This record gives sequence, structure tokens and C-alpha cells, in this order.
Amino acid sequence: DEAKRRHAGIAFVGEIGTEPAHEQLSLIGDMREAMVNGDFNLVYQPKQALQAGRIVAAEALLRWRHPQRGMIAPSLFIPFAEQTGFIREITPWLLESVVRQLSSWHESGLDITVSANLSALDLLDPGLSVRVRELLERYAVPPGRLCLEITESALMADPTVALAHLADLAALGIKLSIDDYGVGQASLAYLKMLPVHELKLDRSFITAIHKTPRNAAIVESTIMLAHALGLIVVAEGAETEAEMRWLVEHGCDVAQGYFIARPMPAQQLPGWIASFRLLEAS
Ligand code: C2E
Ligand code: MG
Ligand code: MG
Ligand code: MG
Repeated sequence: DEAKRRHAGIAFVGEIGTEPAHEQLSLIGDMREAMVNGDFNLVYQPKQALQAGRIVAAEALLRWRHPQRGMIAPSLFIPFAEQTGFIREITPWLLESVVRQLSSWHESGLDITVSANLSALDLLDPGLSVRVRELLERYAVPPGRLCLEITESALMADPTVALAHLADLAALGIKLSIDDYGVGQASLAYLKMLPVHELKLDRSFITAIHKTPRNAAIVESTIMLAHALGLIVVAEGAETEAEMRWLVEHGCDVAQGYFIARPMPAQQLPGWIASFRLLEAS
């Protein structure tokens, strides 16, 4: 995994995260600047409820337009931000941006849930749930509109502390989602204790699902298991009509993927949803 990341890093931006110490320091400086001068920004990818056909949610995804290196994918700088602890500065900014955006969409009558991604370090932060509560109050956002996505590997960094902090978050009334579900190392015994609302199946299971019986078996049984536990299932990375049809036919609740839409700037989302509804209705 590390080797793959390094390889991708070289291909895209030079050896991000593996550079000499002074280069890493300058990258941290660059990230700090990026937050101030708007080179970090969020794009939003719609999530569609498969039975009703409606767009019910969107995921906020971070983008970094570096002045010299160009666009840097989150898969490259998020791990670096995690290793250096800089994620502790990104997440508060991220949460405030998302809650502010939610509040403006809520005021304009756009009824969607918005999710944000958390890292392992965020889950260890004892101040996280207080921060989230204060943001929801300050921006008058109903807690149920916010969803936080957490990967299994982030949970496993310290499962006991993560469980306690997730319980605090769940008590606020926000939604919690297990991201990249099925590729991590969390046991079912652990997962059943978590106060989560949805399982988000990793894209690797969804790709070509209609012609990959082993993936189909995994997804079908996950849907049954999740429904039996009262959870909803989100499929990530649906790229084709055939994959979408399979998901609808097998009772998957929600899908997100390029077939529906790519992540887009916040200003585009309301218009995109409106035209999507018109299209559905016609
Ligand atoms: P993720 O949370 O699993 O997000 C889904 C990723 O899959 C996104 O990549 C999205 O653009 C991509 N995707 C969605 N539909 C499709 C599809 O149909 N086909 C393909 N090939 N890809 C699809 P992105 O934006 O590059 O983000 C990658 C990862 O970086 C995210 O995975 C998440 O783990 C992390 N990330 C992104 N933004 C943040 C953030 O604000 N905070 C933290 N901690 N992590 C973030
Ligand atoms: Mg996610
Ligand atoms: Mg995911
Ligand atoms: Mg993923």
C-alpha cells in the first residue's frame, strides 16, 4: 500500500511524503497557506436513493490546487497530512466548510444530507464531538443532515477510543457511515457495537458486479446483513448502467458514482439536482 502510494506520488507530484525533511516542511507550509488562500476547496458528489430515484445526499471531497504542482489528489496529500499530523488543522476547516454549506443549502430549501470524511487522528481527538455540536448550533443545521464517513482502518487505529467517540457523535443525532466497507480489518463483532447508520461498500466490489459472481455474492449478503441490522447500504463507484441496474434489482439503498455524477463545485450542485429531477420526471 505504502509502496503503491509512493509510486503514485512520484507519478503525480514528485515524492510527496518521502521528500527530504525541508521539502516536507515546505509542503506543510504550503498546506497551511492553501487553507488560507482558498487553494483547498471542496467538491460534492451526489448520492442517489435507488428505489425512489431521488438525490438524497452528497459527499464532500477535498481538492488541493497547488500553485506550482497543480492539482493534487486527496489520495496523495491526505496520507501525508495524516503522517505529519497536519490533518488536525484540515478537519476543523473541513467541518466548518461543510456545515456552513449545509446551512446555506438548508435555507434555500435543498433537502440533502452532506457527508464529510474523517481520518484516524480525528477519531482520537476528544474535542471532536463538542466541535461538531457547536458548529451545528452556530449554523442552525439539523444534526441529521450531517453524516461523517469513517473507514474501518481509521477505526482500528484505536477501536476502544473510536467506539467511545463515535457514541458521542451519534448522541448528537448526526449520521455515521463506515466507508470503504469490506476491505478493512474490522470484525463483525466490533462493527455491531458501532452506532452507525450506513455501510458504504468499497468500489472494488461494485466494479463489474453484474458479471463478477463472487463480488455479487459478497454484496448481496452484505445488503441482507445490513438490512437485518437496520443499516442502509451505499454502493460507491457505480460507473455503468449495468452496475446501477444490478444494485437496484438487489435492493441496494443508495449509489454514488460517475454514472450518476462526478464530484462538482458546490455552486453547481443545486442546479444539477434540479435538472436531474426534471430528467427523472420526463
Ligand atoms: P472515499 O471517501 O472513499 O471517496 C470516494 C472516492 O471515489 C473519491 O475520490 C471519488 O471521487 C471517487 N469516486 C466516486 N465515484 C467514482 C467512480 O464511479 N469511479 C471511480 N473510479 N472513482 C469514483 P477522491 O475525491 O479522489 O478521494 C479519495 C479519498 O481521499 C476518499 O475516498 C477519502 O478517503 C479521502 N478524502 C477525500 N476528501 C477527504 C477529506 O476531506 N478528509 C479526509 N480525511 N479524507 C478525504
Ligand atoms: Mg468517503
Ligand atoms: Mg469510500
Ligand atoms: Mg473508497
